[in-house]
Amino acid sequence: MIPILDSKRQYAQIGKEIEKEVLEVLASGSYILGKHNKALQEEFANYVGSKYSLGLNSGTDALHLALRALNIGRGDEVITTAFTFVATASAIGLAGATPVFVDIDENTFNIDPDKIEAAITPKTKAIIPVHLYGQPAAMDKIMDIAKRHNLKVVEDCCQAIGAEYKGQKVGTFGDFGCFSFYPTKNLGGMGDGGMITCSDQALFDRIVALRNHGGAIRYYHDELGVNSRLDEIQAAILRVKLNYIDEWNKARQENAYRYNALFAKYPEIETPKEIENSYCVYHQYTIKIENRDEVHKLLQENGVGAMIYYPVPLHLQKLHKELGYKVGDLPLTEKDTKLVMSLPMFPELTAEEQETVVETVINCLRMTKQAV
Ligand SMILES: *Cc1c(COP(=O)(O)O)cnc(C)c1O
Repeated sequence: MIPILDSKRQYAQIGKEIEKEVLEVLASGSYILGKHNKALQEEFANYVGSKYSLGLNSGTDALHLALRALNIGRGDEVITTAFTFVATASAIGLAGATPVFVDIDENTFNIDPDKIEAAITPKTKAIIPVHLYGQPAAMDKIMDIAKRHNLKVVEDCCQAIGAEYKGQKVGTFGDFGCFSFYPTKNLGGMGDGGMITCSDQALFDRIVALRNHGGAIRYYHDELGVNSRLDEIQAAILRVKLNYIDEWNKARQENAYRYNALFAKYPEIETPKEIENSYCVYHQYTIKIENRDEVHKLLQENGVGAMIYYPVPLHLQKLHKELGYKVGDLPLTEKDTKLVMSLPMFPELTAEEQETVVETVINCLRMTKQAV
């Protein structure tokens, strides 16, 4: 079996280092908001290139609190993509605002900046671009639109730590960058976790208060907030892993290019395209393939752990039925939803395994065609 992700191989590489740090935390008696949390926040901000960063419970919290800090809520609209994980949109709903979905770009799976302006109304307050699968969204155009229409920008960087657009890391373009340390992400913890980045002191202070039950001073609460912290064990683990992230992202990229080369002689497979002037970190390696569902099923039976991210676009989820979207509203999103399939992708994946994956995908596709 070649799994979509094998976290145990990474552990084999760095387990000793992690065990040492974790044992030290256990013995220290300091489990929340300790020295590792503080150090990680500084190291993370340095890495990304933002002024501030704050550890939180999850990427979902980062997105939700970003909108709260920007005073976005009831009666407001936030533009985003429907081709993403549900948390991008549920953060908007949790803040009390309404998601407005814009179709994707044909090549990159990310929001099409040329379709954003048509979706802007007097109620629009912000845009949430998602750097899906580790590929930066078109941040030049998006920031330009936001400036011209006086909109805030919250970047969903949960799949894209380390990705760059025109030499600048994602998470530094908008008002906030939101990151997840869910174990399957490129920088994954060993439990839940998240981080928010920003470079504005006032906005940062607001996040600090919101995540502390709405109060900057202990036991004094000015507004409704939440409890959201990154625990010390996760922070210690993530500090070790942050030292490797560039190496791991590079290995992912090399694996992606190896897949591209192996698929090159099979025009029936559409391999991922990169937006110009970017550094893509391949959280997923996602192809487009016909007879997708049958191929996917055959791959599972033949030992290849492919996955569908995501089987239902967000505008057609039951969760959003009151928004009134119907089939056909976002044609490119709906088309790609039926074609995409993500293949095994992680830094330690071997060239041999990749050859097996490609061979198996091609064989399975042929089987579906013969069956018809
Ligand atoms: C993982 C993910 C999230 C949510 O992160 P959690 O830490 O699981 O809450 C949000 N958006 C995208 C695109 C993600 O991939």
